Amino acid sequence: MSVSATEVPRPVVHRRPCLPDVVRIYEVGPRDGLQAEQVIIDTATKLELVGRLEQAGLTTIELTSFVPPRWVPQLADAEELMAAHRRRPDLRYPVLVPNLKGLGRALEAGASEVAVVVSSTEAFAKANFANTVEGALASAVAVVEAATAEGLPVRGYVSMAFGDPWEGAVAPTVPATLAARLTGAGCASISLGDTIGVGTAGQVAEVVEATVAAGTGRSALALHFHDTYGQALSNVLAGLEAGVTEFDSSAGGLGGCPYARSATGNLATEDLVWLLEGLGLDTGVDLAALVATSVWMAGRLGRPPVSRVVRALAGDVR
Ligand code: MG
Repeated sequence: MSVSATEVPRPVVHRRPCLPDVVRIYEVGPRDGLQAEQVIIDTATKLELVGRLEQAGLTTIELTSFVPPRWVPQLADAEELMAAHRRRPDLRYPVLVPNLKGLGRALEAGASEVAVVVSSTEAFAKANFANTVEGALASAVAVVEAATAEGLPVRGYVSMAFGDPWEGAVAPTVPATLAARLTGAGCASISLGDTIGVGTAGQVAEVVEATVAAGTGRSALALHFHDTYGQALSNVLAGLEAGVTEFDSSAGGLGGCPYARSATGNLATEDLVWLLEGLGLDTGVDLAALVATSVWMAGRLGRPPVSRVVRALAGDVR
């Protein structure tokens, strides 16, 4: 089904007091989304996806990851993608790097911005990094120091910040402390990740306040929600009310976390846009173009889009 700009409904705007004036969307579909999909997407299709996201108005697009190809075969073409992609100078294209070797590859490929990941729990550090929490942090800090020495801004992801499938509850002071250490090492921004989607709205406020109290600036914070339990949008609203101005999402709700039991997809960018626009927060996103992109991508993946907004606007997509 095709979707044109004229026939796409938009949310009615009802503003609320005490929300940020400007909010940024950090699009993770090409990296965090595609790395968790069963189907390996070819480089040309990825380039088309990124181009369509640019056309749809996304201004920060995490392009790929320089992890060893045997870890994430879905992103084994990082070099080819970077070489073939024509970057727009007005947009940001961070890439994920797991260690100094990955940073070397990213720099060689011309990356201008990178992201590192740490874990809030020992179980996830072991499963995801084959390391301890401290070991993974030390590895990330080495990347942060080397990347900032090269003049690159670095984002620090703190995963399992709201709960862990093996260890259960995570105290807010744990991600708060990790965030402070990444900030101290030179990270320009910190994304607190609810990797398995168990977080709830009151918890979001607690984690944000603990993180700010531990020394990371509120304006440097981003939130990364998964919709496993249907809480992603209420958690975004709680984040907005706590003064957070950057939110991660993936077009159409691509992906999840391949290493975490019970992890379903990322919050869909379309669903996030609908919430933000309904609150009178301009996203700059062309919702019709984005929905059309997600419908097209779902076709390439051979499954329906998971985004509720895509389903509502595009009809019965199969
Ligand atoms: Mg994610």
